Amino acid sequence: MIDYPQLNFDKLYKSFHTPLSNLDCGKKCAPYNPNGIPFCCDICHAIPAVYKSEWATLKKSADLWHLWKQEDCQSALVSEKINVNDLPENMLLLACKGVQYCQRNYRAISCRQFPFFPYVSQDFRFLGMAYEWEFENQCWVISHLEQVSSAFRQEFVSTFDEIFNLWPEEMESYAIKSEEMRAVFKHRRQRIPILHRNGKNYLLSPGNERIRMTTVTKFRKFNPYSNEFNPQQRRQQ
Ligand code: SF4
Ligand code: SF4
Repeated sequence: MIDYPQLNFDKLYKSFHTPLSNLDCGKKCAPYNPNGIPFCCDICHAIPAVYKSEWATLKKSADLWHLWKQEDCQSALVSEKINVNDLPENMLLLACKGVQYCQRNYRAISCRQFPFFPYVSQDFRFLGMAYEWEFENQCWVISHLEQVSSAFRQEFVSTFDEIFNLWPEEMESYAIKSEEMRAVFKHRRQRIPILHRNGKNYLLSPGNERIRMTTVTKFRKFNPYSNEFNPQQRRQQ
């Protein structure tokens, strides 16, 4: 078992606190979820994975969280998606009390980073932010990458620089995830949007990792956000 050096999560939370966007993106995606909950806070769609040492911090700070149990979601959705045995040994799955009880100061790193993960290239460089492609049809932000503030991007990069500096094994696991994303996008014949750590935006070819600078407005949009309407307004028509 790897002996992980201590990371100060209280400090990390204070320096990774800026909202992703100036608007409340939960109001944009929730109307498309039949239960009216933003997708990333719906335990049937996303189960927060936290570092074991992070759990120690969350446990003493608030009663917001508990260890995830199969019964937290009655739907078959999650059990189909999650194989608990795939979880790295330094992580745990949690569930929070629900979106109405959310306490911003006590959100896990996985809540703060969503819908992004650190993209690590084949030559092992942390280039910037890539999105969780499995949420393309749920997360409004993925169709609106122009909404991501530069302050959020900077905090995201500094947070993962600090984590990787202390825990290089984490960078390895994101390198594997990035490789998986390249395989998916190669199969789709699409390039990967990268919100680069240098503040610019790029499309990355999954085959050779060549990057071409672009503007966020050129990034792809996904259903149901590619041709947006307000489903509540539609119901009233
Ligand atoms: S990050 Fe995405 S899924 Fe989460 S609330 Fe915002 S739009 Fe919804
Ligand atoms: S703690 Fe807040 S942000 Fe995190 S999953 Fe729960 S409701 Fe969502």
